[in-house]
Amino acid sequence: MSFVTLDQVEGQLSRGFRLLRFSPEIETLFLREYATERARLVAIWCVIGVLIYDLVYFCDSAMVPDVLAELVVVRFLMFTPFVFSCIVMVRRWPNALFYDILTVTAAVLSVTLPMIAAVGSTSHYLFVYQTYNSAAFLYFVVSLRPRFPAVLIGLALTSASHFTTTYLTGAFDQVAYFGIITVYSMLSIFLAVSAYFLEKTDRQNFLNQLRASLLCRQLEDKAERDELTGLLNRRSLTRISGNLWGGTTRQMTISAILLDIDHFKRFNDVHGHLEGDACIRAVSQCIRDTVSETSYVFRFGGEEMLVLLTGLDPMQVLAMAERIRAAIERLHIPHGGLGNSWVTASLGVASAIPAEITLEKLLQKADEALYDAKRLGRNTVALASLPEPTVRVA
Ligand code: GH3
Ligand code: MG
Ligand code: MG
Repeated sequence: MSFVTLDQVEGQLSRGFRLLRFSPEIETLFLREYATERARLVAIWCVIGVLIYDLVYFCDSAMVPDVLAELVVVRFLMFTPFVFSCIVMVRRWPNALFYDILTVTAAVLSVTLPMIAAVGSTSHYLFVYQTYNSAAFLYFVVSLRPRFPAVLIGLALTSASHFTTTYLTGAFDQVAYFGIITVYSMLSIFLAVSAYFLEKTDRQNFLNQLRASLLCRQLEDKAERDELTGLLNRRSLTRISGNLWGGTTRQMTISAILLDIDHFKRFNDVHGHLEGDACIRAVSQCIRDTVSETSYVFRFGGEEMLVLLTGLDPMQVLAMAERIRAAIERLHIPHGGLGNSWVTASLGVASAIPAEITLEKLLQKADEALYDAKRLGRNTVALASLPEPTVRVA
C-alpha cells in the first residue's frame, strides 16, 4: 500500500506535471484509481460500443452486400466475443497498463476487421462506408479514455490500418485517397490534443482531491490529539469507545489501564511547569513505546494517561501495565522533590466485556484500582474486579 504525505502532494501541485506523470508514490495511487474507475465503467461503455458496432450490420447489408458474409463473421463472431472477454478481463484484473493495451487492441481491431472484409468489395458506396471508422476513433479516445501514450499509439496504428486497407480496396483515385488521409490525420491530431488536456484535467482533479482528503485527515487527526503529548484526547475517547462498544469488539474483553504520575505537584514545585511539561511528554512517549500499536493511548487529564486494549485477558493486561510502570521508572527522570528518587507512576487496571459494562463503569473501576495503587505506596500496579478487591503486583 503506497502512502503519500500532504507535503508530497503540495510539492507535485506546485511543480506541475507537464509530461503527464507524477512522482512514483503519487503515480501509483493515480494508476490504482484509474484502473478501478475504468473497471467500473468498462461494462457500460463496451456494451454500448458493441451494440452500435453490431447495428452497423444494416449498413453493411445496404452498402457492401457482396462481402456481407465476411462482415457477419468479423462483427458477430470475432469482434463481439473479443469485447465481452475484455469486459471480463478488465473487471477481473484492474490494471492501468492492461486496460490501455486492451483499448488499443480493440480500436485497431474495430477498424481493421471490417476494412479487411471491405477490401474484397466492389461496392460504389465504399467511400461512405469507410467514413464510419471516424466513429471508432472518437469512441476509442473519448469513451474508453486510455492514457495519452496509449491514445497516441492507438491513433497511429488505427490510422495506419485504415489508410492501408482503404488503399487496398483500389476504389479511390489519388486525390480522393489523399483527402481521406488528410481528414483522418486531422481527426487524429485533434483527438490526441484533446486526450492530452483531458488527462491533464483528470490528473489535476486527482491531485486536488488527494490534497483535500489528506488535509481533512490531518485536521481530524489534530482535533483528536492532545497538543502537549501527541496522545489521543478526551474527544477521541468518545469516538473510539463508540466504535469499541458498538462494533465487533462488543463481545471481546476490553481493558483500561489508568496511570497517574506520582507526586507530580511536588515535581512542578521543584522544577517548574516547563520541566513538568517535558516530564509529561517523556512519560507519554514511554507509554506509547511500550504498548502495542493496536492499543489506544489517551491523555486523560493533567498527568493522567489512559490505555485501552482489546482481546487480552486481565493477567496479560496486568503484565502490560507492569511493563509500563517499569519503563517509566527506567527513564530515570530525577524527581527532586522526593530525595534521590526517580519519577514514577501508579497504574490501575480493569477489564470487562463491553456488552456487560459501560465505558464510564470500566473507567470507574480502573480509577478505584489506581486509588488502591496510590494507597499501597505508589509506583505500583493494581487490578480491579478480582475476587479480592485489588492485587498488588509490584
Ligand atoms: P499523586 O501521587 O497523589 O498523584 O500526587 P500528585 O502531586 O501527582 O497529585 P495530583 O495527581 O492531584 O496532581 C496533579 C498535578 O499535575 C497538579 C498539576 O499542577 C499538575 N499538572 C496537571 N497538568 C499539567 C500540565 O499540563 N503540565 C504541568 N507541568 N503540570 C501539570
Ligand atoms: Mg493526577
Ligand atoms: Mg499524580
